[in-house]
Amino acid sequence: MDKEKLESWIKELMEEQKLWKFYKSKYWMQLKEEVLKEQKHECQECLKHGKITIADTVHHVQYVRKHPRLALDKYYVYQGRQYKNLVAVCKECHNKLHPEKSFKKQEPLNEERW
Ligand SMILES: [Zn+2]
Ligand SMILES: [Zn+2]
Repeated sequence: MDKEKLESWIKELMEEQKLWKFYKSKYWMQLKEEVLKEQKHECQECLKHGKITIADTVHHVQYVRKHPRLALDKYYVYQGRQYKNLVAVCKECHNKLHPEKSFKKQEPLNEERW
């Protein structure tokens, strides 16, 4: 899928409050599996602290909502340097990476921010 198309698709989903559809799409499911495999199913955040934990989620460093064009990119470039855009993480670390998640109960729509 090209970037233009990806961006307009994601924006459309956000307007309809159906961003979850992106996470259920074959594009994302495939990429997620690939990333998990490449990063050996190890939580990259836990690794920073010398812990090995099984990762079951892939986090977007550049949030999908803010950067829809990067939604399917493994890397992004910032000031001429390449960084990982997709990181394998465990649930616990993923929660920490999404502080807005704690408001989930009051605002059910936030669930779609994942
Ligand atoms: Zn972790
Ligand atoms: Zn995330």
